[in-house]
Amino acid sequence: MNQPDSLWICGATLPDGRTGQDVLVADGRIAAIGPNLAVAPAVPKLEADGWLLAPPFVDPHFHMDATLSHGLPRVNDSGTLLEGIALWGELKPQLTQQALVDRALQYCDWAVAKGLLAIRSHVDVCDDRLLAVEALLHVKRRVAPWLDLQLVAFPQDGVLRSPTALVNLKRALDLGVDVVGGIPHFERTMADGAESVRLLCELAAERGLRVDMHCDESDDPLSRHIETLAFQTQRLGLQGRVTGSHLTSMHSMDNYYVSKLLPLIREAQVHAVANPLINITLQGRHDTYPKRRGMTRVPELMAAGVNVAFGHDCAMDPWYALGSGDMLEVAQMGLHVAQMTSQAQMRACFDAVTVNAARLMGLEGYGLEVGHHADLVLLQARDPVEAIRLRATRLAVVRRGRIVARTPAATATLSLPDRPDTVDWTLRR
Ligand SMILES: [Zn+2]
Repeated sequence: MNQPDSLWICGATLPDGRTGQDVLVADGRIAAIGPNLAVAPAVPKLEADGWLLAPPFVDPHFHMDATLSHGLPRVNDSGTLLEGIALWGELKPQLTQQALVDRALQYCDWAVAKGLLAIRSHVDVCDDRLLAVEALLHVKRRVAPWLDLQLVAFPQDGVLRSPTALVNLKRALDLGVDVVGGIPHFERTMADGAESVRLLCELAAERGLRVDMHCDESDDPLSRHIETLAFQTQRLGLQGRVTGSHLTSMHSMDNYYVSKLLPLIREAQVHAVANPLINITLQGRHDTYPKRRGMTRVPELMAAGVNVAFGHDCAMDPWYALGSGDMLEVAQMGLHVAQMTSQAQMRACFDAVTVNAARLMGLEGYGLEVGHHADLVLLQARDPVEAIRLRATRLAVVRRGRIVARTPAATATLSLPDRPDTVDWTLRR
């Protein structure tokens, strides 16, 4: 594909509400933003026609080694977390590197079509062959021109509970995996959980890496490893480089304790990731009624000054039979589960799948600013709230100034009984 890396995007609406904005791209970066830019006629033009031009979607929490494996070797009948983990255990010995690569590449294609251009994926290191690690490192290199794939060394079976997990995790980091993962609530005891947080944070500090742990993905209000994670972050000077993923136990915690915990998370600059699609389906399964919703306290974390992002977590894998790489679906579910329905909160849900997620991953040059990468998505919506409402069509996806995906605008032609006219429906601006 021989495309230029200069582009003139004409007449867009920006997420901050500015209308009639042109964006000029040169050498793959944003060279200018403003109304009626003077642009040489030779520069290729993308007519935005007033639609919303946003930075691309970013998924801060995914499992690309398991994606699109739904039904292999059998489906998850109960739909529960534990059957999902058991199913993954059955599938692991049957995995081949080629199948892993093929499925991951297919998902990356879906992602690009949906304007999702950066993904942080956990990769299970508890298989001594490290098949998935090698496969996803290969995929990371393959997709780099169009998608930023960041990998987390994830000891699914527990870094202390599984006999070879720590050795394998270090091998994965040696091979080039970017981030140190963990799963403290899955260790055998609370003490082991705390010990795993200490040793994994120390490993990250030694190697100058970021940390992202599956932390307290449990309905047990006494699962408090996030407190230890914040403490170790402070102690080791890892502020801003550590993420607590899921944090679902916080949903069930005592309010008084949470009032102490939130400032500690903020002080340590630990980022938080909620995974609305998965948390709403997997948590609260031991309850009768009322059933807990199981997502962490998103608006309260945001109000305390914590950077919160939403992740997709799963798509068509042992844990979740649905999903399509659509971060607007994730934002919509997060908005509903967290009851974030004020205008400011709905916009914050859009940020949770764009700028907040990019900040957590430490993406360089992300965002709609002069000098930053020309990575953009043109949405068939007038503003971020409408984008969430409609799960808006991605009219064009731009990576480093090149159009890498296009989707025709959503329209419908209605032919109704007792109505003489044929009605063409399209979203009005
Ligand atoms: Zn996960």
